[in-house]
Amino acid sequence: MARRQGGGCFVFFETPMGEQAIEHFEIEKTLSQAIRNHELCLHLQPQVTSEGQLKAAEALVRWEHPQKGLLSPGLFIPVAEESNLVVEIGCWVVTEALRLIQVARKRGLDFEMSINISARHFHQKNFVDWLKDQVYAAEINPKYLTLEITESLIIDNIDEVVEKMRELRRFGLKFSIDDFGTGYSSLSYLKHLPIHEIKIDKSFVQDVSTDPDSAALVETILAVAEKMQLQVVAEGVETQEQLEFLASKAKILYQGYYFSKPQPGEAWINNL
Ligand code: C2E
Ligand code: MG
Ligand code: MG
Ligand code: MG
Repeated sequence: MARRQGGGCFVFFETPMGEQAIEHFEIEKTLSQAIRNHELCLHLQPQVTSEGQLKAAEALVRWEHPQKGLLSPGLFIPVAEESNLVVEIGCWVVTEALRLIQVARKRGLDFEMSINISARHFHQKNFVDWLKDQVYAAEINPKYLTLEITESLIIDNIDEVVEKMRELRRFGLKFSIDDFGTGYSSLSYLKHLPIHEIKIDKSFVQDVSTDPDSAALVETILAVAEKMQLQVVAEGVETQEQLEFLASKAKILYQGYYFSKPQPGEAWINNL
């Protein structure tokens, strides 16, 4: 174990440093540099109708590490979330996503884009004005951009969150609740918030055609969404059975390996 002490020194304790901890420090050290070195990139994963028609795409960040190759966000976002690095990454993601929307619009393509917003970024004091400025500068209709946020982000300081969401919704941006169903919050917050969409977490989608409990849960989510007129995206659809089960229950959008894995963003747009 190593602990940071005053003066930026590290103190090493008797126990050998686990590989995970070493990774952690390396990532923290090099991630900030990675942004400046243009080593981050956005992959896009399509969100389609049951007939496969493209409606939107989720932007998912990747790190093209010069030695380690392509790193998935699961490896570095949790590290970044412990500091303001995640805000730096978030700013880059917004800028790059807006650029990709421009690329798509120039090609006459009409699909929308979703981006993941971390709690620390959203809670920044100037987040709303900053984001509006970015969208203005990119000269993009805000309707093309959806912000994916999590239940835990909402629950943490709900009054501030509601106010910011309402202002951004008035501006024209949309909100989606990511990983829906995995939080411990009550459903009651849904009716207070200007939400456009919920994304059913892939853990429920994955056993929907084999496990009656998951099936019941998904059906409940679909019923709530319909009552509240929310769009639904099913995340992590991998098989035809999952697709058929969901399509028999409601008209929703699908995102998953069954249709496409996330693809390098700009090249994917240029091949549409
Ligand atoms: P998420 O937002 O829930 O994104 C969905 C994840 O599910 C993605 O993993 C995607 O590649 C994966 N996925 C999609 N379809 C399937 C499928 O059919 N089967 C399976 N097994 N997985 C599927 P990815 O790209 O590794 O991202 C993981 C998480 O990292 C994301 O979960 C999100 O929480 C976070 N993340 C990604 N990009 C960003 C970003 O730009 N900013 C922030 N703050 N977080 C990000
Ligand atoms: Mg997401
Ligand atoms: Mg998700
Ligand atoms: Mg998820």
